[in-house]
Amino acid sequence: MTQAIQNLANGAPLIADKLTTVRVYARSDTGRYTVRARLKDSQTGNTYVAGPIPVFWDAHPVSEEDRRKISRSFTFWLPGYWSAGSVTLDAEVNIDRNPSEVDYTNNKMSVTVQFESMPPLKLRLIPVSYDGTVATGAAMLYSLRYLKDTYPISRVIASFGEPLPLVGSSGLGFVDTLNDLGIRRYLSDDSSNVIWIGYMPAKVPSALSGLANRESQSVLTKVGSESTMAHEIGHVLGRGHVNCGGPWFPDHAYPYPTDKLSFAFEDDYWGFRPRKRNHLAVKDPARNKDFMSYCYPRWVSDYTY
Ligand SMILES: [Zn+2]
Repeated sequence: MTQAIQNLANGAPLIADKLTTVRVYARSDTGRYTVRARLKDSQTGNTYVAGPIPVFWDAHPVSEEDRRKISRSFTFWLPGYWSAGSVTLDAEVNIDRNPSEVDYTNNKMSVTVQFESMPPLKLRLIPVSYDGTVATGAAMLYSLRYLKDTYPISRVIASFGEPLPLVGSSGLGFVDTLNDLGIRRYLSDDSSNVIWIGYMPAKVPSALSGLANRESQSVLTKVGSESTMAHEIGHVLGRGHVNCGGPWFPDHAYPYPTDKLSFAFEDDYWGFRPRKRNHLAVKDPARNKDFMSYCYPRWVSDYTY
């Protein structure tokens, strides 16, 4: 059962009201057969059908290749409106009973998981003007979507504020701008759990793409790099750096090789991102790095999640 990152034991928490996919892996005792599978969930009582896909014999119950390729599992898309609490999923393969089998009982599997409810992430978005331009709110959507896909949340609540000028495009100018943002946040009526995001247009000429201040719960980010906002908000929420790419003050508690999302074994944590309808992109844990690092490509590890 996967939302952003998951292992075969379903070790990562599942969030209520978040888009969820279920991958069902099957093996045959002998030969290769193309069959369909069915899934039933106990919360809505809905039944879903997936396949046909080929099912065959292999020494590994689930191989690395199976994790990497979506087409190697029956993939079910569940509705994104789970209430918190327990859900039992019953899966069955070869539902058409073609080929016919002597024993159908080993075609079934049942898993019970818990969904937790999480409060929405509240943001106030402040465009930062530079050289007569501001980034549009639409340009921010890219980063917001990444945030929603990589954080254990079901909703982001965002409001927009008046533009703020960029004090200067040097590192010090960024610090001053972030201070201005923090002051404006302090003077506002916003409750303490709203994070303020100053977003700069992509044309700001600086190698630095973001900055965060935990105390003032404010962030400065440049549009265009989709994971920067997730990284900076991570700092506001108290997360340090994963030691890849030479960041300051790395968090040495990261439990995996710092250029990987996990140990990347076949039963390990793999990343997933729902793309357009019924398309799930796999984030290979051996290639992707945690977004709290300075390395790319980035996704979220279960540690950061
Ligand atoms: Zn950082």
